[in-house]
Amino acid sequence: MELWYTEKQTPGLGLSCKIKETLYRTKTDYQELAVLDTFQFGRMLVLDGMVQTTIADEFVYHEMITHIPMRTHPNPRNVLVIGGGDGGAVREIIKYPDLEKVTLVEIDTEVVNASKRFLPEISSFLEDSRVNVMIADGIEYVRSHEEAFDVIIVDSTEPVGPAVGLFGSPFYEGVFRALKEDGILVAQTESPFFNADLIRTVYRRIKAIFPLAHLYLASVPTYPSGLWSFTMGSKRYTPLEPAGKWSPEDTKYYTSDLHTSSFSLPRFVQDLLKD
Ligand code: SAM
Repeated sequence: MELWYTEKQTPGLGLSCKIKETLYRTKTDYQELAVLDTFQFGRMLVLDGMVQTTIADEFVYHEMITHIPMRTHPNPRNVLVIGGGDGGAVREIIKYPDLEKVTLVEIDTEVVNASKRFLPEISSFLEDSRVNVMIADGIEYVRSHEEAFDVIIVDSTEPVGPAVGLFGSPFYEGVFRALKEDGILVAQTESPFFNADLIRTVYRRIKAIFPLAHLYLASVPTYPSGLWSFTMGSKRYTPLEPAGKWSPEDTKYYTSDLHTSSFSLPRFVQDLLKD
């Protein structure tokens, strides 16, 4: 008998994956969590019926949410990741030789535990001595920090449940205050095909707070529509040319050329950003 998992990405569209095995399933304090072993993408982390990451394509999202801000800043030493309990963003950040500290603030301890148990390729770098894992609400956490971080990365779930506030202006204002005077914010902002309103709204919110706002794209097969957006707010540095001298050489998606080209947007995405 064949077993299939379907994520209903929109009311009229689903992504179906043939399943080898359900490795783990639990209801946490915040969400329903599952780890599935799929034929096409290998192990897959699912929260509330939405694919968060898979072994086969996680590199795209994790490289693009980290290396673009990390190389836009000339010397990032102290970095904050909000969400991201799978550890993929942290794995990319600790590649930077001059990095002093990365703090991961994840609200759900079960995401960290399940990732450590079932997704070691992604999570094992959480054990690095420069990594500080905190189980807390990212919204509260930024409120209690001022001019502390060079880069803040919001690697959040979709705007449901505890992640709703991570897409709001009060949170972005808190992030602005928690960043140093030349700091950079990047947030994952969903699909331009299916989440146009969210992208429009978040871009305007970030543009109203930060001197520079930019949107860039990457292609993630397991995310709705396959085309994913990231929105950056920068206090000083423009991301269009990577400033950081050091560049990671062991990436599978990110390159210095792609850094620049990922900001070249299709016309329908440019239109979302117009006033
Ligand atoms: N790459 C993913 C995506 O775009 O689908 C995101 C993955 S990561 C697992 C998202 C994490 O954000 C989840 O583990 C969730 O528990 C966490 N999260 C949601 N709201 C949060 C909050 N307010 N503070 C900290 N973490 C939060």
